[in-house]
Amino acid sequence: MKKLAEYKDKIHTCSKCGLCQSVCPVYKATGNDCTVSRGLFIMLRGLIKGDLKMSAKINRYLDLCLKCGACSKFCPSEIDVVDIIVSAKAEYFNKHPFEKLISFIQRVFIFGIGVKLLGLFSKNIKGKEFEKKVIYFGGCGNKLKGNEAVVKLLNSCSIQVITPDFECCGIPFLMRGDVENFNKYKKSFLKILNKQGVKEIVTTCASCEKTLKDYIKDTPEMSDIRVKNIYEYIRENNLKLKLKAPQRVTFHKPCNINNFEDIEWILNNTENLEYTQMEGYDECCGLNGLSKIKEYKIMSKIFRAKHNNIINSRAKIVLTSCLGCETALSLYSTGKYRVFDFAEFLRKNCC
Ligand code: SF4
Ligand code: SF4
Repeated sequence: MKKLAEYKDKIHTCSKCGLCQSVCPVYKATGNDCTVSRGLFIMLRGLIKGDLKMSAKINRYLDLCLKCGACSKFCPSEIDVVDIIVSAKAEYFNKHPFEKLISFIQRVFIFGIGVKLLGLFSKNIKGKEFEKKVIYFGGCGNKLKGNEAVVKLLNSCSIQVITPDFECCGIPFLMRGDVENFNKYKKSFLKILNKQGVKEIVTTCASCEKTLKDYIKDTPEMSDIRVKNIYEYIRENNLKLKLKAPQRVTFHKPCNINNFEDIEWILNNTENLEYTQMEGYDECCGLNGLSKIKEYKIMSKIFRAKHNNIINSRAKIVLTSCLGCETALSLYSTGKYRVFDFAEFLRKNCC
């Protein structure tokens, strides 16, 4: 991860065109330019020049950013906004012991003891052996739910699944600017992976997938490792599935999915599955805003927009492919619909 000052030239390429405003969920909720990349970059430029000092107020704006990357996809200057915001967050994090205390609690109690306790009854199965082998990186989702969905779906494609005991991918820490803990997770991943001797990794979670791809991009000796999600394998192998009974579903596309066409192919080719695309299916669910209790007024606008789009789709089942999105959508569903990981849903409902 680069230091904020190293992004100086990239930040200068922002032409202030304001296109990012049209897609930023936080800007749409606030109308405040300080909450979107254009305004954030003006602040960050001030920090780099020394005209401004990092403060709780600037950190508040960095925190309000959901790190969804929607603005980057629109940005004519092709600025990777999330990388820059995270490096600014790291500057704040490193100077504030309270942030480190939160990380400690997160690491020990939430992603450590919490995930272990919640996953006490999940189990991993071995599945069948095939010539083609892949490693399953399930991160926290694997600890909570086990690997049955992945093993059964991939075995149907004549692929054997190996499930080492990986930890979290570390993305929740990186988003808070905690580069030290993120690097610990990355190191643990590489150590476990090196023992396996298998060059393909499968994930079901879009955020894990993006993080692993970033690990590998930054680690030249791992350049022969490939990371794919399970939906690519299903489509490649033309695996046609059938639900036991007809079901109407909608799908929330996580920000980090970059092969949604594979997911759409399965949605449209599974017998008894009626897929209806909700409005704003690809807009951020607001996951990073869940913990921001003080910003409830702003965040609730983002949650409500997604919630209303789901209700208007008239589907009672929402599918997704990111543990974070699944958690956020379930929390604000208020019992009006049920939310499932797509692979888990297929495992439970296919003949
Ligand atoms: S879209 Fe890109 S170039 Fe335009 S204002 Fe936003 S960050 Fe700057
Ligand atoms: S990453 Fe998302 S929330 Fe942050 S500025 Fe860009 S569009 Fe807005």
